[in-house]
Amino acid sequence: MKQTLKNLQQLMHSQSIEYAWITTPDNINYFSGFLSDPHERLTALYVTQDNALLVVPNMEVEDAQKASNLTAYGYSDTEEAFLVAKQNTNFPDNAKLYIEEEHVTVKREKALFKNFKAAQLNAIDQIIKDMRNIKTADEIEILKSAAQFADKALQIGVSHLKEGITEKEVAQHLESEILKIEGISGMSFNTTVLFGDHAASPHGTPGKRELKNDEYVLFDLGVIYNGYCSDITRTIAFGNPPTFHQEIHAIITEANQRAIEGVRPGVKISEIDALARDYITEKGYGDAFPHRLGHGLGITVHEFPDISSANDDTLKPGMCFTIEPGIYLHGEIGVRVEDDILVTEDGYEVLTRYEK
Ligand code: MN
Ligand code: MN
Repeated sequence: MKQTLKNLQQLMHSQSIEYAWITTPDNINYFSGFLSDPHERLTALYVTQDNALLVVPNMEVEDAQKASNLTAYGYSDTEEAFLVAKQNTNFPDNAKLYIEEEHVTVKREKALFKNFKAAQLNAIDQIIKDMRNIKTADEIEILKSAAQFADKALQIGVSHLKEGITEKEVAQHLESEILKIEGISGMSFNTTVLFGDHAASPHGTPGKRELKNDEYVLFDLGVIYNGYCSDITRTIAFGNPPTFHQEIHAIITEANQRAIEGVRPGVKISEIDALARDYITEKGYGDAFPHRLGHGLGITVHEFPDISSANDDTLKPGMCFTIEPGIYLHGEIGVRVEDDILVTEDGYEVLTRYEK
């Protein structure tokens, strides 16, 4: 049984929660190690203070048990999934069931009342969010490896840069090589490779643009390693770009560094955003930095905590997130520098190490 599941059971015990019904694929993966894409079919993790089991479509029973080491009960396409679930759980009539209210549809809510005969449905969303916000020792080890493989992927991409190659070709070389590594199941998102002025769009996609001498190349990529995501951005000089572009690069590198050095437990998240944003504004480019500073990282590439001026929560040891300031000047250049950061007991650790 995963430590995350044991931790959930402990929390359920301390808060007198008896029965939980978890249906978000990411959260089922987080607690059990079983990741599936069930589409419209029901997949659920049922948790009590001293037991846990899965309910999955028949064809997934074997995979689910293997991935989770939990008992999995299957149902066929002609059976009522919720009835099968009720028969295989110890859920008593007229009890309280804790569900993810942000995920359960009205249709499923009705099915839970009808088949489970639940007296009440309560939300467990916040408890799960708070848990995922603080990484366990096991998760931290995997996140460190994922970040190292992001460094490696970046190095592969850089090694393919040459005059005339297209953005898309670089992205394809990089992905096909890194995906050969054992344990890497995919990229965290479609790899971004943008040349020169094309990088001025924060969400540009790699195309047929050919690389010229003396321009910057923006790489934004990440890998999923053992179920955990990394995310790195570097803007790399190919040759000797114009001085003006180098100045923009220097401002962003400094903004990234200032924010990182502010990370330690107890600091407000909004203050970390301000460390980068105020510096960029001071240099005259505040309007050219249109997005939040970063986002949490874990089994999904965008999760809690939200690293923005709107988040006044404080940093806690075990939080893992990105710091990624950027400046985008239309028709000119786009520069972003992104690192994966872990909050430690007395400060921070930078998980991505590629030179800036
Ligand atoms: Mn990124
Ligand atoms: Mn990111």
